[in-house]
Amino acid sequence: MAKCSANLIFVAITYLIVIGVDANFVFIGILPEISSGNYVGPYLHFAFVQCIVFLIFWSHTVCMMSNPGCFPKEYRKLDLDLLSEGAKEFYQVALDAIEEKKRRKQALENNQLEEVAKLRTMYEKTSKIKGMTGTEKDLLIALFKNKCRKCKSLKPPKSHHCSQCNACIARMDHHCPWVNNCVGISNQKSFILFCIYVCFGSMYALSVTIYYTYHCIYEQCVTFIEPIATIMNCVGIFLAVLFASFTGIMFYDQMWCIIFETSTIDKLKKTLRKESGKGTWELIKESFGEDFSLRWFIPIQIERKITIESQY
Ligand SMILES: [Zn+2]
Ligand SMILES: [Zn+2]
Repeated sequence: MAKCSANLIFVAITYLIVIGVDANFVFIGILPEISSGNYVGPYLHFAFVQCIVFLIFWSHTVCMMSNPGCFPKEYRKLDLDLLSEGAKEFYQVALDAIEEKKRRKQALENNQLEEVAKLRTMYEKTSKIKGMTGTEKDLLIALFKNKCRKCKSLKPPKSHHCSQCNACIARMDHHCPWVNNCVGISNQKSFILFCIYVCFGSMYALSVTIYYTYHCIYEQCVTFIEPIATIMNCVGIFLAVLFASFTGIMFYDQMWCIIFETSTIDKLKKTLRKESGKGTWELIKESFGEDFSLRWFIPIQIERKITIESQY
C-alpha cells in the first residue's frame, strides 16, 4: 500500500460531486416520472445510472487504495542479503561493469594497451551474462549510478520520486490529488477507467439534464419552476461540462503517454525516453496488464511484481 500523505479534501470533493450529480439526476429525471405514474422505465433508468456511479466509485477506490508501483524496501537500502538471487546477480554484473569501465578508462589514459584489451574481454564476458547486450549493460551502469537522493532507492529511467508518497514509483505518471495517490505502473488502468466512467457519466448527466430541462420548460412542470430545481440544474450542467472535459482530456493524455512511452512528468520535464520498439497495441495491453477482454473495463487491481529488473 502506498503511504501517501493524507490530503483527503480533493477525494471528499470528488465524492460529493458524484453524489450531488447523481442526486440531481434522481430529482429531475426519476422522481417526476414516478410521480406521473410511470414505474418500470424510471427504475430501469435509475439502475443504469447507479451502475455508472458504482463503476466510478469502484475505479476511484482501487486507484486510491492500491500500491501505484513503489519499489520493494530492499531496493532502498541496497541490503544485498534481502535481494533475490536474480537481483543479486543483476547487481553484481552492474558493479563489475562499472569497475571494469573505470579501470579501462584509466588504462587507456596510461596507454596500457595490453590491459585495455584484457579488460575489454572481461567486459564483454560479463556482458554475456543473462544474454545482456552492450546497450543493456550501459543501461545497468546508468541504473546503478542513478539512485534517488531522497529515498535512496535504485531508480530505473521510467521511475520518479514522489515527495507526497515519499517513495520512488515505477513508471510514475503523476501524483493525482483527486485519488490522493500516485498514478504509476500498477494503478494506471484504474485511473484510466475512472476517467472513462466520469467522462461518460458526465456526458450522460448533461444529456439527461438538458432533455428534462427542455421538457419541463415546454410543459411548465412544477419541479422546474421551483428555484432549487433551477439552481441544481444550472450547477449540474456546469459540473457535467467541466468534468466531461477534464476527464476526457486526462483520458486522451494517458493514452498518449502509453502509446509514446512517456509520462505526464516526463512531458513537463521534456525528458527523452527509451523507445522499447513495442507496437501501440502491445503497449496498451501491457498497461492494462493482460490481453484484451471484458476485464479491461472492470477496475480490478493488476497484480504486478515490481522489481528493478522488470523495468528494463
Ligand atoms: Zn525516491
Ligand atoms: Zn505520490
